[in-house]
Amino acid sequence: KYHEQLVELKGNIRVLCRVKPVLKEDQHEEDQSVVVSTDPNNESSLNVLNKGKGRIFELDKVFHPQATQEEVFQEIEPLVTSCIDGYQVCIFAYGQTGSGKTYTMEGSVENPGINQRALKHLFSEIEERKDMWSYTVTVSSVEIYNEVLRDLLSKDGDKLDIKINPDGQDSCTCRILATARRNRITFGTQMNQHSSRSHALLCITVQGTDLATGSKTTGKLNLVDLAGSERVWKSGAEGERLKEAQNINRSLLALGDVIQALRARQTHIPFRNSRLTYLLQDSLGKGSKTVMVVQVSALESNVGETLCSLKFAQRVC
Ligand code: ADP
Ligand code: MG
Repeated sequence: KYHEQLVELKGNIRVLCRVKPVLKEDQHEEDQSVVVSTDPNNESSLNVLNKGKGRIFELDKVFHPQATQEEVFQEIEPLVTSCIDGYQVCIFAYGQTGSGKTYTMEGSVENPGINQRALKHLFSEIEERKDMWSYTVTVSSVEIYNEVLRDLLSKDGDKLDIKINPDGQDSCTCRILATARRNRITFGTQMNQHSSRSHALLCITVQGTDLATGSKTTGKLNLVDLAGSERVWKSGAEGERLKEAQNINRSLLALGDVIQALRARQTHIPFRNSRLTYLLQDSLGKGSKTVMVVQVSALESNVGETLCSLKFAQRVC
C-alpha cells in the first residue's frame, strides 16, 4: 500500500541526493570550505554556494552528511518489497569518483549498504509469505567497462545466475557479494582504478508462485553502482583514458535520456544507445520503478562536479 501511495504522489522515478560527510582524508588541500548544505526545515532542498552565489536545488529527498545507511535504506525498502510483488525496480548511484556511490550500494562490513540490506529484506519478506507463496531468488552480477560486459561471479566470463536457497541465504548472499567485490577489485588493480570507470550491477530476480492458484509473478531488482561522472576529457585525457571517458559520458547521457523519456511518457524510449540501458530495458520500461541516488561532495574543490551532478538530477527529476 505504502509504495502505491508513493507512486501516486511522486511518480515511478524518484531522485534522491546524498551528501558525503567531510572525512579526514578528504582535507588534503589548504582551503577546503564546505559549500553544500541541507535545509533542516525542508528535506527536499539542497543549497550550493558557488563563487559567492547560492543556488537551491529541489529533489525528491536529500540526505544530510550524517544520514545513516539505515536511513537511506528505509527510503528504498518499499521498492524492494514491490519487486516481490512482481515489479521491476532499478536503483542507481550516480556521482563523481569519491562521492560515496560504492559506500551507498556496497557499504562496509560494519555499515552494509543497499545491496546487502535489500537481499536481507527480500528473504525476510519471503519468509513471512511462505504459507501462501513460494519464491525462487536468482542473483547475477556484471560489470560494464568500455561498453563490454564482464561477469563478476564466474571465472570464465560467462554470465552466471546463482540460485539462492532461503535456508542458507545468509552465508550464500555474503559469498556472492564478496566474490563480486573481489572480482571488481582484481580487475581494478590490473587497469588503473578501473572500478571507478565501470558500471557494476547486481541483478536479483524474484519468481513467485501462488501456492493456492499456481499463478506466477516475476520481479526484478537491479542495483547499479555507476561509473564516476567526472569530466576527465576536459583535463586533456588521451588514448585509453579518453576512450573510457567518452564511453562513460555516452552511457550516463543515454541513461539520463531514457529516464527523461520515461518521465515524459514518450512513446519511443532510446534504450539502444548504450549497453547499460539496453541491458536494463526490461526493468526501466512501463510500470517499473526507478530510484536515482545522486551522490555529492560538500567541499569547495568539488563544486564544479557537484553542480554537474545536480544538473543531471534536475534533468531526470
Ligand atoms: P565512489 O564509489 O563514489 O568513488 P566511495 O564510496 O568509494 O566513492 O567513497 C569514497 C570514500 O569515502 C570511501 O573511503 C568511503 O568509505 C567513504 N565514504 C563515502 N560515503 C561515506 C559516508 N556516508 N560515511 C562515511 N564514509 C563514507
Ligand atoms: Mg566506487
